[in-house]
This record gives sequence, C-alpha cells and structure tokens, in this order.
Amino acid sequence: VKGLKKHFPVNGKWGRSARAVRAVDGVDLTVFEGETIGIVGESGCGKSTTGRCILRLIEPTEGEILFKSKDIRALNPNELRHIRRDMQIVFQDPFASLNPRKTIRQILNDPLIIHRIGTPAQRRKAVEEMIEIVGLRKEHLDRYPHEFSGGQRQRIGIARSLILRPKLIIADEPVSALDVSIQAQILNLMMDLQKDFQLTYLFISHDLSVVRHISDRVAVMYLGKIVEIADKNELYERPEHPYTQALLSAVPVPDPDLVRERILLEGDLPSPANPPSGCAFHPRCPVAADLCKQQAPAFKETGSGHWVACHLAEETR
Ligand code: SF4
Ligand code: MG
Repeated sequence: VKGLKKHFPVNGKWGRSARAVRAVDGVDLTVFEGETIGIVGESGCGKSTTGRCILRLIEPTEGEILFKSKDIRALNPNELRHIRRDMQIVFQDPFASLNPRKTIRQILNDPLIIHRIGTPAQRRKAVEEMIEIVGLRKEHLDRYPHEFSGGQRQRIGIARSLILRPKLIIADEPVSALDVSIQAQILNLMMDLQKDFQLTYLFISHDLSVVRHISDRVAVMYLGKIVEIADKNELYERPEHPYTQALLSAVPVPDPDLVRERILLEGDLPSPANPPSGCAFHPRCPVAADLCKQQAPAFKETGSGHWVACHLAEETR
C-alpha cells in the first residue's frame, strides 16, 4: 500500500466549499506473505477505512494498492472479481453481516456460486467440510443465523471468508463484539487456520492485548496515518512514539516490575476534517516541542524494521 488516502466530503456530498474528512491520509504499508499484521488505534483513526480500501469495498481517493504485484485500483470488474477470491474480510458483527433469511448452507454456498467454483456436489462437500473446520457441525448448516451464539456466528463468518481459499484475510475487530472468554477461542481458531491454510492476516483492532496475542508486527494509527510500526515485541517493549507510549501505558501488565507510569492524554481525538498542523498529535503530546506545531515529522526507520513518525523519536525511546 503506497500513499493511500481516503477523503470523504464533510456532509456526504462534494460541494464547491466542501471540506474533506481525511479518514485515511497517506498510509504506506507492506504486508508480507504469511504474517499477521495488527493495526491498532482509537475509533475514527482510519483503520477500518484502510482495510476496506485495500479490498476496494470503498474506492480510495489516492494511492496504490499492489496485491501480488498487481495494482488492484487498475483492475476492471472482471479482474477485480477474480482477485477478490484471494482477499476476504471478516467483520466485527457477524450478525449484521450474515443474511438472516438464508441458512448457513446458503451463506457458505453463495461465494462458490458467485465465483463459479465446482459442481453442485463439489460445493456441497466443500460447505460441509468447511463448517467442521471452524468447529461447528453439519447439522448446523440448515439453521439460520439467529439460532447461533455470537461466537458461533463469528465461526460462520470465518467459514464464509475461508470457503474461497483466500490468501489474505482482513479481519476488522473480529472479536470485539464477543465475551472475553469467547474471544480467546476465536483468536486461537484464527491462528490454527492461518497455519493450515497459509493465510496472511491484516488484523484491525482497538484492543492492544488482542493485537499483541495474534500479531507478528503491529502498526499504530493516529488520525489517518501510521505513526509507528515494528515487530510486536519491539513495539510493546520499546515504543518510541509518544502516542504508542500513552496507549500502552493504559494496558494492565501482569509483571509489577514492568508497570509503567500511566500517561494521560489531554483532549479528545481532533476531527479528521480539521487535523492539527505539523504533527497531528501535537495538541495532545506530553513532550511536544515548537517544531512539532510547524512541521510534520518524517516516517523514519530508527531500528531494524522499527519505523516511527516523531521529531523526538531518539529522545523518547
Ligand atoms: Fe509529540 Fe512532536 Fe513527536 Fe509529534 S513529533 S509525537 S508532537 S514529540
Ligand atoms: Mg472500525
């Protein structure tokens, strides 16, 4: 992903004087085959919009999205349909995303029909195998979504995304609507499936503990931009961006020697229609300097694979 931007008009319509909501405002991101990259940030930071732009569920305003070297923004509808087999999404609320009038069998069969895969007998077999792979039973196939618990519904959502044997799954807050005890089951299922099906995950969440559990690398977003990215352990143990440090200081840690002083951020997340000058984090940053108001920091590599956008990254380390 290179220079990805998605700007929405403030009141839903582009007029002569319309201001833009800069939901995504210049995201560069490389996702390696087989890894799980977590994207964290507060609600409204642009992480879901980034995920949807990558799948072209919404059209980006600017930027490049290369998937296996193909620019998916340049594809015609037929080519796009083809590449969509390889890229699937799992939504936060499986109830809202499963058609209540269809049986689970129909829900899992539909993508196969749309992509013209197999004979009816082969599709039937694929659907029956898939429901067991996600930990449910064949008898469940002839029931309707409302007959299932939240956790079971998310298993069905995962089965639907997996039925086309994709390479990349974008999971947008897949466990946020679930009880904590169920969250771990779904995360473990996703990790098992990743091994069995050689999946690559882009895992979007506001929950730092969940992201730590599942990710190899983690990117932190603030107001439409990635402000820090690093290997998971590096990011959680040596965060360099003051925003990441503040987010992590709010997460309880089991080891008392590691307890960090809680950094409280002042003020609310500014509106992406009117982002602050310079470093967009400066009004809330506990260590902001004069320079921060005037000049946006460059995104720099400060250690192996550790990138951060902060003028004071060296000092804050
Ligand atoms: Fe804070 Fe300045 Fe770094 Fe922005 S660039 S995070 S305002 S120190
Ligand atoms: Mg979201």
